[in-house]
Amino acid sequence: MGKLADRTALVTGSSRGIGRAIAERLARDGALVAVHCATDVEAAKAVVAGIEAEGGRAFAVQATFGEPDAVERLFDGVERGLKERTGTAELSILVNNAGTKSVQLPEEVTPEAFDEVMAVNAKAPFFVVQRALGLLADGGRVVNISSGITRFSNPQEVVYGMSKGAVEQLTFHLARHLGPRGITVNSVVPGVTDNGSSPMLADPDIAAHIAGMSALKRIGQSTDIADVVAFLATDDARWITGAVIDASGGSLLG
Ligand code: NAP
Repeated sequence: MGKLADRTALVTGSSRGIGRAIAERLARDGALVAVHCATDVEAAKAVVAGIEAEGGRAFAVQATFGEPDAVERLFDGVERGLKERTGTAELSILVNNAGTKSVQLPEEVTPEAFDEVMAVNAKAPFFVVQRALGLLADGGRVVNISSGITRFSNPQEVVYGMSKGAVEQLTFHLARHLGPRGITVNSVVPGVTDNGSSPMLADPDIAAHIAGMSALKRIGQSTDIADVVAFLATDDARWITGAVIDASGGSLLG
């Protein structure tokens, strides 16, 4: 029996990259996982098929954050999927992972571009948690994926950094709010991570430079982040809440 055998999980943005690795790891540990995508339903279904092929349990849900009814649409799918498989819509683990990045100098940022990033990275996690409050089991887990950008200055990522600062604030305040129910809320902070589709990491010189930034002298893999999230989801992490967990391989040590 895996450590998450009787648990259910929603991992937003798990059709690829870090979210996919998180969904696969939670499923391997025994959780029934809702695999969410924005648009790439085929990719989400492929993740589900991979999990099932390994003996795990999962189903796909689709909703594009930024669209007005996205959160309701997401939870229609989540509740239906959970009820069909468990008889209830109780959710044990929520991982707010879906995210979008923007690289623009402050002078270049338009209000539309600003709103787009904030809608996916900051507003959606808030309303996803709000909508999940009635489904989350006592003793449940919320994990929010932040970014190392909250720890160093890069003017071209000002909007992305602001959006991830909001994610860490969400963790901070919700941890106290949900603590009385035994629900822990934590942020995980990846450094640059190979998500399988990074054009930047396809350049060997840039990849070598980024590997050199880590105290451990390699590039982070999606599974490196997934293993941290999986730990936070277990009972072993019951005394950690409101924390910001660095998962950058020592890339932010200065
Ligand atoms: P990724 O490979 O680009 O995957 C993004 C995921 O989010 C996909 O599943 C995508 O769905 C979904 N998504 C994108 N826009 C969405 C929207 N509008 N509504 C709903 N879902 C949406 O991302 P990643 O690199 O694995 O990053 C995952 C998380 O880690 C993000 O929060 C990111 O900010 C954070 N992070 C990443 C790194 C890194 O170096 N990779 C570093 C620090 C932090 P579709 O497949 O349908 O498009």
